[in-house]
Amino acid sequence: MSIKVVKFGGSSLADAKQFRRVAEIIKADPSRRYVVPSAPGKRFSDDVKVTDMLYTLYELVKSRADASVIDAHYDKIKERYNGIIAELGLNFDLSGEYEYIKNAVLHNAGRDFAASRGEYLNGLILAKYLGFDFVDAENVIYFKDNGSFDEEKTNDMLSMELKDHKYAVIPGFYGTSPNGHIVTFSRGGSDITGSIVARAAEADLYENWTDVSGFMMADPRIIKNPQAIDTITYRELRELSYMGATVLHEDAIFPVRYAGIPINIKNTNSPEDRGTMIVSQASGYDTEHVITGIAGKKGFSVITIEKDMMNSEIGFGRKVLEALEDFSISFEHLPSGIDTMSVVVSTANLEPSRERLLQAITRRVKPDSLTVEDGIALIAVVGRGMVKARGTAARVCLAASNAGVNIRMIDQGSSELNIIMGIDEEDFNTALNAIYNEFVK
Ligand code: ASP
Repeated sequence: MSIKVVKFGGSSLADAKQFRRVAEIIKADPSRRYVVPSAPGKRFSDDVKVTDMLYTLYELVKSRADASVIDAHYDKIKERYNGIIAELGLNFDLSGEYEYIKNAVLHNAGRDFAASRGEYLNGLILAKYLGFDFVDAENVIYFKDNGSFDEEKTNDMLSMELKDHKYAVIPGFYGTSPNGHIVTFSRGGSDITGSIVARAAEADLYENWTDVSGFMMADPRIIKNPQAIDTITYRELRELSYMGATVLHEDAIFPVRYAGIPINIKNTNSPEDRGTMIVSQASGYDTEHVITGIAGKKGFSVITIEKDMMNSEIGFGRKVLEALEDFSISFEHLPSGIDTMSVVVSTANLEPSRERLLQAITRRVKPDSLTVEDGIALIAVVGRGMVKARGTAARVCLAASNAGVNIRMIDQGSSELNIIMGIDEEDFNTALNAIYNEFVK
């Protein structure tokens, strides 16, 4: 029988109604054997996620708030769980757990411990409701002393543990440090746990259930009703997520990519939708469009360095990049001409050392001119289909220029997976719409 690992996000487990949906999805397919839950998320738009409530609890304790204030806040957290238990009609009493958690937070168990209890308690309830075993992430997900994830130890221990459980719930988001403290991944980290469990279980598929029917080809806040992406490769996804497209935690790709396990982004509220398949090789999956998606980010600066005969000066680029390195500034792109070199950096990273960096570049390479321009947005047009299609760059440029957008810079990677364009920030929405319409409509 095939094995599926299913991860459910916070909105999929926000209340009892959502728990019922989740159980129905899991029970509909016996190969859905390992379940990774997030903490309860928002039930309505100005609701507060339980994880955020737990961070607040920690802050209240740390700032030595009144016991009555702490208790009142903690009661609200307990109400979220007790409400779910009562509405599901479960005979389940978490009062011992609540007491233990409160004492631990009061006695310096730490910020990560507090936050992790959102997933822990939700996992206990879900395991009880499904009749599955509960495998505490504390005993199977390991971090190193330096705080980074211990991939190999985790994979060894977790795969051994899972062999003893046909069906199990493993809470997302946290694990344990070598000295036994709870450590969490960064926000949204249950996606990573799901991916780790999929690798350890040697799953055939990692289903990531959320509240949208997959990745959209463009940001729905900018493009009205964008189409969902049917199939995307891990590499394309990296490009799009880096440029700001979010649905899945960036780091969730690595464990399954390593093991060649596809991810299927699915919608808990519309389970029959196909969602988006994330795969390592897209051969066999046709692309309907030349491009897979478009994403973009504002807030960049372009440093332009001009010097006659630059192209024959050995080590010129290295000296410029060393100056950036001295100030710990990473660069995004390096479009260059014969006697000019441009470095695109994030304005926020540049800001603290702007003047000193410019002085350092001047000292190292003695340019004829050195200018910085802020207010640049980058747009990435990503698609494995571009390798085969001629004229994609021309279409991108024409669409932008017909819409009155001035292209400040354009960069096509030699892998032909993406085209990156630099434009003025005020042209951002216009450019995204023009490119989307050119390729999709
Ligand atoms: N509950 C955590 C968060 O809100 C982790 C997750 O949902 O993936 O960030």
